[in-house]
Amino acid sequence: MKILDFRDLTAGKKIIAENFASWTSGNEIIDNFIQEKQLNYNEDAVFEWIPYSELMDIKEIGNNCLTTAIWKEGSLYYNKDEKEWIRCPYEIVTLRFLYDVTDESINKVKSYLKNKVIFGISQNPDTQVYLLVFNNKYVNYYCEKCGNKYEDIYYKCCKQCQINQLEDNFINWTSGNIKLDDFIQKMQLKIYEYNTLFEWIPYNEFIIIKELGKHTTLAMWEKDLLYYNTNNKKLVKRSYKNKVYLKYLYNSQEISDEFLNEVESYLKNNVIFGISQNPDTEVYLLAFNDEYFDHYSLNICNGIRPEINDQIAPKCYTDLMKKCWDSNPENRPNSVEIKKLINLFYQYNEIKMKFNETQEYRKKIFSAIKNNQLTTHTQAIYTSRLLNPFTKNLSKYNDNINNNTVEITDFTK
Ligand SMILES: [Zn+2]
Repeated sequence: MKILDFRDLTAGKKIIAENFASWTSGNEIIDNFIQEKQLNYNEDAVFEWIPYSELMDIKEIGNNCLTTAIWKEGSLYYNKDEKEWIRCPYEIVTLRFLYDVTDESINKVKSYLKNKVIFGISQNPDTQVYLLVFNNKYVNYYCEKCGNKYEDIYYKCCKQCQINQLEDNFINWTSGNIKLDDFIQKMQLKIYEYNTLFEWIPYNEFIIIKELGKHTTLAMWEKDLLYYNTNNKKLVKRSYKNKVYLKYLYNSQEISDEFLNEVESYLKNNVIFGISQNPDTEVYLLAFNDEYFDHYSLNICNGIRPEINDQIAPKCYTDLMKKCWDSNPENRPNSVEIKKLINLFYQYNEIKMKFNETQEYRKKIFSAIKNNQLTTHTQAIYTSRLLNPFTKNLSKYNDNINNNTVEITDFTK
């Protein structure tokens, strides 16, 4: 360790200032910037002009814009305890090219200084290219590839590099619809907002297992979701298969903004993998994960009801069903009214026949579900359970008529 002979901070600063005449970067902006930083020195290493000849053993690592070297003289700083200016010779440093000296690049240097990762600036006399000289903390916080600050320091995850890889991957798929492509790309670039990389899934990657209703189908997705591997820093398709629920969008052949907002809300709730299209029917479909059912089972509390059609029951019966599940309890019929209506159903032959038809249909559907139940709904819960963990955030039904609240009793205990 070389001990310098200027003993205090003020004297040291004076010597540094007098030294201004002995060096120049050859660029006025750089000279002024370094001088200003040196005159305002208060702690850490002095920001310096580092002659290229002081850098030894320059080695490229990874790619040609990042290199390591040994700085023979080492950084200069004021040791407050010893009240001395000292240099730490043979310091390992990281070098990065600074091709353009602009306000923007100087601002970047300012942020490096703020983060205490930079020692100074140098220049290769042969190529005339300037170099930023960083300390050993730089590689912990900044991406080796592009130089941007890591989003996640522990995993060394660089957002810009992930975005670059995703953008490179855009040419590998298309939905055939510009608006939809734009939407999927936009969602993928929100990689730090949503857990899933929303994808365009070619229809032939699904193995259809079973229809669960008019709009929903259980399927196996042969290829797993797109995933950014933090270990090797690559965008990969993992090799295992996924169970998916396909929801057919018979009414949205047209990709509207409203529809895309709805899809984004699924992504926000982490229940969706991607979108596809049956090439024969041109019907779009969404691929959901298991959590879709858990999450949306509470929709009933928010006024959303299952779709019913005339195959399941005659219209007069489904109308009664709808009345019974009205969000406002005041609109629901009482038992006397229900009895009266049901009695009416028996008085007309036409209605009786319709009931018989729908009964047959339901029997068929039910036996089909029964035969496949164990293999299809493995994650479904068939016993009663309390929904309290899910319902706590739900807004209460505003009951103006009476303020009786229902006490929930846990019968499972
Ligand atoms: Zn990067």
